[in-house]
Amino acid sequence: MENSTETDLAIVAAGAAGLAAAVAAAQLGLAVEVFEKNATTGGTANRGMGPLGIESRHTRARLFRPTRDEAFEAFMTYTHWRVDANLVRAFLNKSGDTIHWLESLGVTFAEPATYFSGSYPTWHLLQPENGPPGPGGGATMMKILTQRALELGVKIHLNSPVSRLITEDGKVTGLVISENGAAPHSVRARSVVIATGGFGNSEAMIRDHTGFELDKDIFPFKIPGVTGDGIRMAWEAGAQKTEMGMELVYGMPDPLTVPPALHEACRQPHLMVNLLGKRFMDEAVMPNVTFTANAIAQQKDKTAFLLFDSGILEEMKRDFDTRNRVFPKERFDDAEATIDAYLASGKGNFYRAPTLAALSAQTGIDGETLSNVVETYNGYCAQGYDAQFNKERRYLRPLTGGVWYAARHFPSAYGSAGGIKINENAEVVGKDWRPIPGLYAAGTDACSIYGDSYPFIFPGTSMGFALNTGRIAAETAHAYISGAI
Ligand SMILES: Cc1cc2nc3c(=O)[nH]c(=O)nc-3n(C[C@H](O)[C@H](O)[C@H](O)COP(=O)(O)OP(=O)(O)OC[C@H]3O[C@@H](n4cnc5c(N)ncnc54)[C@H](O)[C@@H]3O)c2cc1C
Repeated sequence: MENSTETDLAIVAAGAAGLAAAVAAAQLGLAVEVFEKNATTGGTANRGMGPLGIESRHTRARLFRPTRDEAFEAFMTYTHWRVDANLVRAFLNKSGDTIHWLESLGVTFAEPATYFSGSYPTWHLLQPENGPPGPGGGATMMKILTQRALELGVKIHLNSPVSRLITEDGKVTGLVISENGAAPHSVRARSVVIATGGFGNSEAMIRDHTGFELDKDIFPFKIPGVTGDGIRMAWEAGAQKTEMGMELVYGMPDPLTVPPALHEACRQPHLMVNLLGKRFMDEAVMPNVTFTANAIAQQKDKTAFLLFDSGILEEMKRDFDTRNRVFPKERFDDAEATIDAYLASGKGNFYRAPTLAALSAQTGIDGETLSNVVETYNGYCAQGYDAQFNKERRYLRPLTGGVWYAARHFPSAYGSAGGIKINENAEVVGKDWRPIPGLYAAGTDACSIYGDSYPFIFPGTSMGFALNTGRIAAETAHAYISGAI
């Protein structure tokens, strides 16, 4: 690596938060070096579709709500005020300006969107280099941020995992890195931002801090490199811990390998049961993937099955009840061929059987209860009223047989949540409740604003938090270095 004697700001990682911090700090005139564990920049953000923005020019032009005040109130009500209100306010207030800042760097947004009916249109879908908005928009944004950082003189060291922070007299003054497998060496820095993306791919931290077991009862996206390193380093340097959890969604394991139309067919609001054969939720809630994951996580083996039959399959060939911007399929095209190919692939978690009893045997669902539940559910469909959970009438379709299908769902997660306590200036807070001088954290490592559930009513919160706290960390580090604080 280039021999860095001392830099103003050393940034641990080149994901959404790290690169936002790098560009913002370089624009303020700081000398910046970024150390990234992987061979490429972008981290989890390469997979994302867009960040949250409140009162951006796009939402204002369309007279979309919420305003900043409305968003703040709704956010705090959602989280029951169990989170840092000053941090939430700082993030939401800056988020519209961050959309404009990204545009000034060359990032293009397609439109602000909701995620599901009832969520707010805060999701600023990124326009990818090629094709429509979708998975891949994030990679375009991260490429642009990388280019701008380099143009501004930021030194980005790839294949350079940071292993620990250096502290002197209670201040953070550098870090230890190893570049391309070489022996570790230290880098002096007047300030450090930690932004290593949380612990969504750490078996040990998921087990120790969330109650889930990786690849047994939770199947997150497992982004390479995101193993809680920054959280551990900050704790070792005296940072306070926050509550920790997973940014829950649900799906068949490894959903990106399931054909999109089959994936959507298996997430339509038909009949959902647990291994006991019982219904446990109003299936109309399923578009809220976090609420659905919460409900599944309460069931035996954290497992659920979505059931349909050949009659419902025929209807899905014409139209889906609910749509999704991530897998924007309108109907189940080539249904039988897609199902045949998927079953032949042996990937599992999708079942087809000639009778309900055979489906129970294949899936392990209690057959007697399931048979009774289907009969009761069909009664609700006939009377047009779901006496159990009051599901919307338009989703009440009986299952009468022909061919039976089931998809097995588990909790999944975009990543983790929480770890390092920061304040509204992105300063890392020590055990004495004072900021640790010279140390800042941003993004998932420090994202403790969700309460008990990812606030999907504000789509884009996760990447939005990363970008905004990255910018805030850079501004605070600049103030610290220039002696303003
Ligand atoms: C499939 C998918 C879709 C998503 N879609 C959206 C969306 O549309 N909107 C939204 O708001 N959010 C979305 N998210 C979440 C969003 O991408 C993340 O919240 C965001 O990227 C977090 O940013 P970050 O900077 O904290 O971490 P990351 O972007 O994950 O970056 C962390 C970086 O740290 C590096 N690193 C780790 N350890 C070290 C170390 N020791 N030394 C150096 N580097 C290290 C990693 O290699 C990685 O590059 C999505 C996530 C997934 C998985």
